[in-house]
Order: sequence, then C-alpha cells, then structure tokens
Amino acid sequence: MKANLKNLKKLLLEMQKIESISSLLHWDQETFMPENGGEIRSKEIAYLSSLHHQKQVSDEFKKELGKFVNIKNGEILSNEFIDDNKRFLERVWKDFHYANSLPEKFVKELSKLTSTSQMKWVKAKEQNDFSLFEPYLKKMVDMKKTEADYYGYSTNRYDALLEQFEPGITTEKLDDLFGGLKSRLIKLIGKIKNSSVKNKIVEGKFAEDEQWKFGMKIIKDMGFDLNSGRQDKSAHPFTISFHPSDVRLTTRVHENNFLSSLFASIHEAGHGIYEQGLLKENFGSPFGQAASFGIHESQSRLWENQIGRSKNFWKKYLPILKDHFPQFKTMKLDEYFKTINVVKPSLIRIEADEVTYSLHIMLRYDIENMLINEDLPVKDLPKIWNEKMREYFDIVPDSDANGVLQDVHWSMGALGYFPSYALGNFYAAQFFQKASEEIDDFDKKIQNGELLTLKKWLNENVHKYGRKYLPDELIKKVVGSSMSVEPFMKYLEEKYGEIYDL
Ligand SMILES: [Zn+2]
Repeated sequence: MKANLKNLKKLLLEMQKIESISSLLHWDQETFMPENGGEIRSKEIAYLSSLHHQKQVSDEFKKELGKFVNIKNGEILSNEFIDDNKRFLERVWKDFHYANSLPEKFVKELSKLTSTSQMKWVKAKEQNDFSLFEPYLKKMVDMKKTEADYYGYSTNRYDALLEQFEPGITTEKLDDLFGGLKSRLIKLIGKIKNSSVKNKIVEGKFAEDEQWKFGMKIIKDMGFDLNSGRQDKSAHPFTISFHPSDVRLTTRVHENNFLSSLFASIHEAGHGIYEQGLLKENFGSPFGQAASFGIHESQSRLWENQIGRSKNFWKKYLPILKDHFPQFKTMKLDEYFKTINVVKPSLIRIEADEVTYSLHIMLRYDIENMLINEDLPVKDLPKIWNEKMREYFDIVPDSDANGVLQDVHWSMGALGYFPSYALGNFYAAQFFQKASEEIDDFDKKIQNGELLTLKKWLNENVHKYGRKYLPDELIKKVVGSSMSVEPFMKYLEEKYGEIYDL
C-alpha cells in the first residue's frame, strides 16, 4: 500500500503549482502591476482559485484519498500508516474536509460579500462612519457562524474559526493563556507609565536609499537568501512564497520613519527565512507548508523583537548605522536601545510596542468571542470597542476610524485570525529562550553579528518540519513543554525593567 501514496502526492503537487502561480500574480499586483492591469488580474486570480478548488473536490482526488482515508470522517483505513505517513494523511484529509464542507453556493456568496464588504470598510474608515460598514459586517458575522456550523466543532462555535489559523487551539486554551496575562501586562504598563525614565523616539529625515541599503544588509546577514528571494517595495509590507527557492518580501520606506521600515524589513525577512527553510522535497505536501499562522508570526517577531530590538544586536549594528545616518553619530548604545523600545499605550494595533501589543489582540479576541458565541449585535461594536479600550489601555479612541474600523480583518471575514498574532509573541519567546540556551556563547555571537547561527538553529528545530506537527506538538518538541506565556512575560519584565528602571 505504501508506494501508492505517490499518486496522491502527484495530485497535491498539481494543486500546489496552481497556488504558487496565483501567488506570483498576487505579488505582482501589489508591486509592479500597472494601474489598469487590476481588472483582468482579479479575474485571472479568481480563475486559478476556482481551478484549484475544482481539483480539491474532484472525483479523481476523492477516489485517490479514499483509498487510504474514510473521506467522511478522516479515519485512516489501515494501521500500516504510522508516524509521518499517518500525519501526512491526517493533514491532507483536513484540507480536503475544509474544501468540501462548504456548499458551492455558500462559497460564491461569501466571496462576493468579502469583496463588497472590503470596499465598504475602506469607505467607512475614510469617512469615519461605522454605519456604512455595519450591514455588511452583520452579514459577514452571520455567514461566519454558518461556516463554523458547516465545519463542525465540539463545544464552542468560535473554535471552528480558530482552527483555520491555529490548529488545536480552542477558546478554552486561549481563555487560560490570556486570562493571567492580561492583569500582568496591565500592571507592567502601569509601572512603566509611572516610571521617571522618559524615553523619546528618534525623529528626523532619513534618506530613502540609505534606508534601503541598510535594511538589505541586515536581512542578508540574518540569512535571507537573495538568490532564492527578493525584496521590493509595496504599500503594506508582506511576504509571499512560490517555493522555498523563490520567496518574495516587500517593505515600505518612509523618509520620516526610519524605524518603521527597518523593523518591517526584519519582520518580513523572519517570515521569509521560514519559507526558505521549508524542505524543497516536501513542496506540494502539507509538510512543505508552515505549521500555523501563529508559528509563522513567531518567526517574524523573534527576529524583529528578541533580536532586532535587543542591545546585543545593536552592539554590532549601531556603528554601521552611524555610517548610513549621521543623525546617530553621537548616540550611545544604551540611549539608542531605549529609543527603539519606547512603551506607550496607543490606539492603533499595528503601531503598538511589544508590551502593549498583545492587549490589542485580547481586546479583539473578547469581541470576536462575543460576536460568534454570545450574539453581540454588530451595531453595538463601536460602543463595546471604546469600553474595552478604556478597560485595557485607559484611553478612548477619538474616532471609529482609529478605533473599531482600524483593521481590515473583519471585512475580509478573517474572524479567528487575531489570536495568532499574540500566540506568535508567546511562541517567539519560548523558541528564543531555548535557542539562547542551546547555542554556545549566544549573546556574544549576536553581539558579533553572527546571526546565521540562530537562523540555522531555527531551520533545524522549527522550519524543516513544516506542518508535520500541530503548533503545540512542535512547541513541546522544541522546548520540552507546552505553549506558555511565562517566557514571554519573563522576557518583557526583564527587558523593560532595565529600560524603565522598575
Ligand atoms: Zn507578520
């Protein structure tokens, strides 16, 4: 029976190729496509997406998968399949199950709603008028509830949505992880607020080409392989992969905001190194894909925060930075370290520092839970949002555009996505702690700019497995214990204790 997986793998590879071609069109759309190319491009992408779907639900695929798995319930038909083969079949069935759970009519309706609701969201945000978006979001929430019902769940409807982004994570587990963290974070932020140390952010103008050169040097030193990838510019930084040998990063460069573009580059390169670290021989198989959104995010955050905002890292790179930007000429390492780690509760999630960031996520988690499980009326969202902002940050948005309307996710129907960002922070701290224990002279190596040693450790311990293990299994395998917020809190308390003299 074993050899017969070959045919199944061949069909999966065909589907992967379609996805990769579609990704290439997406990348081009966001980077170099001329304005008038948009209309035909979205039709081309829609065509590839329906072609991919047809293959996933085809009789040929069902027949092939059905040789090894009961396609109704995912049960593996032979106990000959153990370990890797068993995991492989479980992952393949799960993707198949998702693709086949939703009726064709529902999928079409959802896709139509998604594009309309995104347009309405843009308008509502521009005009600071939630009521323009409200009816579409209401419909979206209703459809997401139905979607969860199609997928199925055991106790909690929201779990079915979480599962798409973070396999194995449940509302129960998140309540547990977030529960204790919330009060500890709020306490830490309160102490920082009352600290007599006041740190300022660096302001001024930074030549764009120098920013670009410096950013490129850093991502190269991190080990992002520029023979198997590129970096270009786009309005919003992102990473997209066609194959481990062709991974594209984008960043933005603003003359007035040097740090935001540098950290965006480091962040995306962290994602890119993960994609390049997936094994080429697994291309097309679930083992050639990232473990989860949260694990993906852990890779970008680890490089951005634990490395990019550390004193060790800047010991090597501050002198180089000074060659690019004379503004920093007289700045001492200690002072610079503080300027890149300013903590301040703020309205906007994507601009949040690493201490307040997870609270932004918990707020969204609370609200999504209320929408999906407690039938919170969508019209009450602006009010609830502002109440929660007061509870979490002790500030209230000046407008809905800077409040409930700030994120694109709900308009895209990505309910259940936000928790992955916070999980990424927790996983990053766990991986980082382990790497710093296992790599000899870790601090010294980072101080010398020997970043490849960390990249190799991540390749070996995290990247090469792809989706073979569920996130929690992967964490256990790497660090020896389950997912936990402890290393994250310890990291924050130590680092910010030093910076703010707490
Ligand atoms: Zn990211």
